[in-house]
Amino acid sequence: MINMYYDRDADLAVLEAKKIAILGYGSQGHAHALNLNDSGMNVRVADRKGSKAWERARKDGLELGTVAEVSQWADVIMVLLPDQYQKEVYDREIAPHLKPGDTLAFAHGFNIHFKQIVPPDEVNVMMIAPKGPGHLVRRTYLDGKGVPCLFAVHQDPSGQTKALALAWTRGIGGTRAGAIETTFKDETETDLFGEQAVLCGGSAELIKAGFETLVEAGYPPELAYFECLHEMKLIVDLYYEGGLSLMNYSVSDTAEYGGMTRGSRIITDQTRAEMKRILRDVQNGEFAKEWIKENADGQPEMKKLRAATQAHGIEQVGVRLRKMMSWLNAGQAKIEVSG
Ligand code: NDP
Ligand code: MG
Repeated sequence: MINMYYDRDADLAVLEAKKIAILGYGSQGHAHALNLNDSGMNVRVADRKGSKAWERARKDGLELGTVAEVSQWADVIMVLLPDQYQKEVYDREIAPHLKPGDTLAFAHGFNIHFKQIVPPDEVNVMMIAPKGPGHLVRRTYLDGKGVPCLFAVHQDPSGQTKALALAWTRGIGGTRAGAIETTFKDETETDLFGEQAVLCGGSAELIKAGFETLVEAGYPPELAYFECLHEMKLIVDLYYEGGLSLMNYSVSDTAEYGGMTRGSRIITDQTRAEMKRILRDVQNGEFAKEWIKENADGQPEMKKLRAATQAHGIEQVGVRLRKMMSWLNAGQAKIEVSG
């Protein structure tokens, strides 16, 4: 069984005594920095000088510096930069400023688990990974609640790292909901498998295949879009709130029966065997090797695949249909900005 930890298990005092650097003021960065600051901790933030995030942090009233400056100042350094840039920034701007007894922290285990970053033995290494996006971590904190967190200790020369990880989790609101102790290995491998097989990979291919099946059979793409993509949200919201049973309870008996008798014809033994192969490539580091090389090469495959997705029929019809739904315009604007 896993251990759960709550506010009563976490002592903020161990973190209160530390100088805390938050590197990156994006989704997670802004939430950790603002929540810890509001919890009374001594926080400084780093981002790229003059960037939008930098300006946001300044407006939010936080003390700011470059990565090198705040890393030198701090005892605890939380790395909330995009995972694929962490190694480069670590080598150039963080590692030169690490002192024995410092603590390096992450919100995802990839770079430590796959040895892209190998901190010195005298440095403590921990992870605090909220199970939700930064805006939710911030909003729930302000509401007096919290997002459940995973935490882990990778190396612990001080003997204090678990207490520090729990204090951090409490400072961002996580132990109000509950924190689960894990390892860098388990967090990294389950996260990669989940996004590949189920969340991002599996669900997107399921949606495209359903859409293509209906359109190839002569049905209007607009109907196929609503049926296979748009309505996914209604179903996922039910899973989120009450699991598979609430979904079954809420849909019609026809949908429930049809789904239960046909779903296993979609996810077949062959699909399950492929899931095992995907998991194996995560576990043996094949995926990590591929992704690190892809980044080193400038993401050529990524760019091709992204363009192919944008050109897919479901995306064409989706752009038109979402214009009918005024409340969805913010999402469209984000895609256009990011190109
Ligand atoms: P974001 O992309 O939202 O934010 C990253 C921030 O780092 C941005 O402000 C970015 O600035 C800044 N940045 C990028 N490069 C540099 C650099 N060289 N020097 C200084 N600042 C830089 O990342 P996330 O918050 O999503 O992810 C951070 C970590 O949290 C990752 O390890 C991720 O796996 C983990 N995580 C994320 C979750 C999520 O839901 N988003 C959930 C749990 C964990 P700019 O905008 O200018 O590029
Ligand atoms: Mg994830």
